[in-house]
Amino acid sequence: MLYRFLLSTTAVFFCLSAEIGYSQNGEADLLRERIRSADSDSQRVELKLQLADVLEEMGSYDEFGSVIRSILRISAASANRQAYLGGLIKYGDYYLDRMMPDSALVPIGEGLSQAGEDSYRLQFINQKGTASRLGGNPGESIRYYDRSYGMADSLGMSRMKARISHNLFLAHRQMGDYSSAFEHLYRGLVQSEKEKGSSLTPLILKDIGELYYQLGNVEESISHLEESERISRELSLPSILTGTLTNLGIAHRETGDHPLAEDYLEEARSLVEPGNHAARVKIDYNLGVLNLTLEEPETARLIFQEALEVSREKDIPEGVYYNSLGMGDLNRYLGKLDEALNWYQLALDTSRMMNSGNLIEQALEKQYAAYRDNGQMRQALGAVESLRSLTDSLRTSDHEQSRAQYETLLESRRQTQENRILTAQRAEQEAKIQLQQTLGTGILIILSILLALTFTLYGNVRTREKLNRDLKERNKDISAKNRELDRMNDIKNKLFAVVSHDLRGPLSSMKGLLHLMREQKLSPENLDKFADSLEQSLQDNATTMENLLAWAKTQMSGIKLNCVEFSLLQAADEIHSQIRFQAEQKNLVFAVAVEPDVRVLADYEIVKLVIRNLVSNAVKFCEKGDRITVSSKQEDGLTFVSIRDTGVGIRPEDRAKIFGEGHYTKKGTKQEKGSGLGLVLCRQFIERHGGMIWFESEYGEGTTFTFTLPDQTPEKSTKPTT
Ligand code: ADP
Repeated sequence: MLYRFLLSTTAVFFCLSAEIGYSQNGEADLLRERIRSADSDSQRVELKLQLADVLEEMGSYDEFGSVIRSILRISAASANRQAYLGGLIKYGDYYLDRMMPDSALVPIGEGLSQAGEDSYRLQFINQKGTASRLGGNPGESIRYYDRSYGMADSLGMSRMKARISHNLFLAHRQMGDYSSAFEHLYRGLVQSEKEKGSSLTPLILKDIGELYYQLGNVEESISHLEESERISRELSLPSILTGTLTNLGIAHRETGDHPLAEDYLEEARSLVEPGNHAARVKIDYNLGVLNLTLEEPETARLIFQEALEVSREKDIPEGVYYNSLGMGDLNRYLGKLDEALNWYQLALDTSRMMNSGNLIEQALEKQYAAYRDNGQMRQALGAVESLRSLTDSLRTSDHEQSRAQYETLLESRRQTQENRILTAQRAEQEAKIQLQQTLGTGILIILSILLALTFTLYGNVRTREKLNRDLKERNKDISAKNRELDRMNDIKNKLFAVVSHDLRGPLSSMKGLLHLMREQKLSPENLDKFADSLEQSLQDNATTMENLLAWAKTQMSGIKLNCVEFSLLQAADEIHSQIRFQAEQKNLVFAVAVEPDVRVLADYEIVKLVIRNLVSNAVKFCEKGDRITVSSKQEDGLTFVSIRDTGVGIRPEDRAKIFGEGHYTKKGTKQEKGSGLGLVLCRQFIERHGGMIWFESEYGEGTTFTFTLPDQTPEKSTKPTT
């Protein structure tokens, strides 16, 4: 479908691209003309150096290369040292722009042997840094960049300083050190803005947008990207514009505005120079992901496969990396987790070969999630541990704080004139702080549950140790028990790995938010915005956490039922009041149609957990105005409980995955995240009660989940309640 769309829009964007390239083409033509009529070698090389700049910016590498070679020839023959050094710098750029660091080292080495202690030397050192960075040595590149930055500083070259700051940003980001990356980027922005019309400004704004996206702040990301888009159109910078449009496409995919995302990506694709395969395969990867989001897996597969082929043929490791991730995501979407894991492994190997911290991190995250979904908890744990060792060294709390400070600086740069409604609205802010504290309490509750669980586990382990000793005395059969202990320890480890990994995100956002609040640098509107998204992510987490705890319990001791007789209406009402807030937020109608006299004999907490999971799924997959009904009937010694919704429904091809072991999950209508654990647990719990659970669904019409509870439960009843 996308390809069809692509064909129909190519013509439109072709005109646009011709228009954008116009001023540079005109400039290049003019320079070519002047070169032909130049009357001295020195004038000719001077003009050729200018032409090389224009060609580099246009991405016309073939002509760029031949112009440089002719500059070097003429300047060497006429012993024009300055032009020769200028040509060598351009020759280095020629290879670096095309990701060929080894070839770049030849002109760089020649340049360093010819340059004095002058502005040329620092440019070659800067290039040497870039060659190291592209060669997978970001640490080494930082040393070169620092040296050349010091030289540029003492020579007062502010444009060069801005460029080196940008390079320092790239190196730190490659190492996964986002806070230092932010710092250099901000510094680069301040320097580049000193020079009017600098092409670095839109480039840096684009990268700020990209960084914000990586930090999960899509709104800030979009506003910086739009600023970059505006400037790069104004200054006619197609290569920066291509990157910016790609990022805008990615960001709008996240906001859910898919047609707009597609427009941006298509325009970006139309602007790429035919020879720039690296840019193209990156855009293609994003088009593939978009198709996956639009549930067009076959189109996505075609795109990824073609991009992979090109990346391999043209030796573009980044392309191999991204499109392997794409293939992994595709297979995960299709429920083929083993195949997905193979692709993620390929991506991980490629990122390790590139020695790129942020790419390694991303691949490990994917691998972790797929292992977890596949129930391979030991391997999931391995991935989490690699992640931790990768990030711990970089993300100390100092770093988090300095990042928050730079984010704040950027924020205040954007809002200088509104200085400062804060005091006037202090009262309002205090109300928000109250909310914050409530959220904090939420986190505390989760942490206390974790703590309590640790003690329970610890207690359990202790009891079992004692049991083990007794057994040993009696029949020396310790090995079985030891294995059991190992298994429990293993479960404890898995649980903590998963829980700490999933809690890390909201906790660190919370920390950043508190920091900004303490510094009073947050406007009430922003506080509102952050609090909302934080609340959503905490809610998602709380559900996951509850399911994880329940899962851990089943793993530890099998499911122990504590069956009592209780009123189903009371259970349903309790859940109704717990879920009311969520349902109201989405404007849903919620009805409980259970007769007051329906009583069941079952584990009260477990039945509530099951109904709560089913109801919150219904909320998740309903849209404004939809209806959710909890109802029941009793027949033939069975109680039937149904949760019906008029939401989005389930596609026929996805039905088989619903109760599967693959932990199938999809985002809700408001992009709510899940874990895919809920329904598997529900089934285990209901079957343990001797009941059954199933669903009926019409895609686009709604879904009904029904479970049964027999009057006689497998476990004996204890004292009746309520
Ligand atoms: P989670 O909700 O955490 O993803 P579940 O196991 O509860 O995990 O649900 C698995 C998947 O089943 C959901 O992600 C969704 O795709 C589908 N699903 C469950 N309930 C509904 C529903 N009421 N309407 C539509 N899809 C549903």
